[in-house]
Amino acid sequence: MDAAALKEEILRLKQEKGVLILAHNYVIGDIQDIADVVADSLVLARKARDASEDKILFCGVDFMAESALILSPDKTVVHPTPESKCPMAAMATKDEVVEFKKKHPGVPVVAYVNTTAELKTVVDVCCTSANAVKVVKALGTDKVIFVPDCNLGQYIQTQVPEVEVILWEGHCHVHNDVGALDVMTMMSRYPDAVVMAHPECKPEVLKLADGIFSTEGMVKHAQASDAKQFIVITEEGLTYRMKKLMPEKEFIPLQTAVCHNMKRITLEVVLESLRTMEPKVKLPEDVIRDAKKALDRMVQIV
Ligand code: SF4
Repeated sequence: MDAAALKEEILRLKQEKGVLILAHNYVIGDIQDIADVVADSLVLARKARDASEDKILFCGVDFMAESALILSPDKTVVHPTPESKCPMAAMATKDEVVEFKKKHPGVPVVAYVNTTAELKTVVDVCCTSANAVKVVKALGTDKVIFVPDCNLGQYIQTQVPEVEVILWEGHCHVHNDVGALDVMTMMSRYPDAVVMAHPECKPEVLKLADGIFSTEGMVKHAQASDAKQFIVITEEGLTYRMKKLMPEKEFIPLQTAVCHNMKRITLEVVLESLRTMEPKVKLPEDVIRDAKKALDRMVQIV
């Protein structure tokens, strides 16, 4: 089957079976085309929680599909590519964080949503890049432990100087590998473009940007802006969505910023998953119960 026939069959089956397809901004364009919602992890988490459908097919990496199940344990959540894992989520284990907490008694732990379900059971609250600053402010403490993204933690520190942010040594290789020279080269090629960067990038990259945004923040900023050209410093898949939403504007991706785990999700695997409604996301009941507290707090903070 060609791409058009695959898409047609997916749309037909999804309708027939009453399945909601959620897709992250970083998946390939073909998958964005057949999804009911394309968004960042915070919006997708809320959609999963609030969906009237009781079956969700999640196109993203594993922690996102797990979060959908944790927030809606009565729903069936299918993740077509369980091998799509976020390497950053493996950079902080539950046992390591429990040990770290002992060195900082009483200090709350904020976990980026890019973590395992098991780790979420021992933290106070989760956050995404869209609400990380608000989550830290909402805690109202003078110190927080932030795991695992060191770059995002450093960015939060600049936004909330009154709170000491105790950092962890994790990172997203896709964003961390972007160098200041890469950005300067693009800036010299497109001198009129607005530069938007994701807070998972290194501080030297963020310093060059006109604005620092989550992926959803980038979409909103470009929609509100009079500018016509934007350099988008995050995973390149986001620019597909931006071009669809704003065809009159130009979005220039950083071609090297590619998350291969997101790109594993193809039309073929989605169709197969829809047919079989497998593989289903499964987690132990106690993990769902304990991780839900930190995720519920996350989705409540707007
Ligand atoms: S882009 Fe980075 S943080 Fe996002 S899923 Fe890929 S590796 Fe993980």
